[in-house]
Amino acid sequence: MSDDQQKKNTRHKEVMQKQKAKVDANIAAADTERGVAVLLTGNGKGKSSSAFGMVIRALGYGHKVGVVQFIKGAQLSGEELYIRNQCPQVTLYQMGTGFTWDTQDRTGDIAAAEKTWAEARKMLTDPGYDLVVLDELTYMLAYKYLDEQMVLDAIAQRPMEQSVVVTGRGGGSALQAVMDTVSEVKDIKHAFKAGIKARKGVDY
Ligand code: ATP
Ligand code: MG
Repeated sequence: MSDDQQKKNTRHKEVMQKQKAKVDANIAAADTERGVAVLLTGNGKGKSSSAFGMVIRALGYGHKVGVVQFIKGAQLSGEELYIRNQCPQVTLYQMGTGFTWDTQDRTGDIAAAEKTWAEARKMLTDPGYDLVVLDELTYMLAYKYLDEQMVLDAIAQRPMEQSVVVTGRGGGSALQAVMDTVSEVKDIKHAFKAGIKARKGVDY
């Protein structure tokens, strides 16, 4: 090995040791054990699919999972098919109406949102659930179909060990404030805008 390579290796080892010390210190400092509230927002693709990635993680540990899909239900999706056919242990509830620009029925949407929220609330008060996914919930708040404070209180007062994932664009600062983890998926480009059709197994 040349001197130069040896120096690079030694330097790399020093940097990695410092990095490990930092990571270890951060791990030691994070000593609170409780469920977390995660908000996945932003205009890019990847919010719901990330939430369903967490569903798979939780199922790997035999955790009890509840999924409530606001808005969705008009379009069949791979995750719905998989959960219905392969995951009888997952409770799935769908609002069942399509996108609100399809239904154009505000009163009907509000009634459906409230009915769906009642199912979500059941999960958020049941300590049997380890993970609750509230997919596309942010739109119910943006359109004021659900009372924001009621939703925030239910999330904040959920059982201590329960984690919750909320997806959807927007969401607002009050929702962000009650969540422990907030991630924004940024839209850099999307195939659809280049005229590529939404794809089975990728987009739905
Ligand atoms: P995914 O379910 O793929 O993780 P998402 O939950 O981040 O997407 P939604 O706003 O719920 O995004 O929209 C779901 C559908 O819209 C998916 O088919 C997705 O590919 C598509 N989509 C998401 N973001 C964009 C975008 N920026 N432009 C066009 N289509 C998008
Ligand atoms: Mg989504």
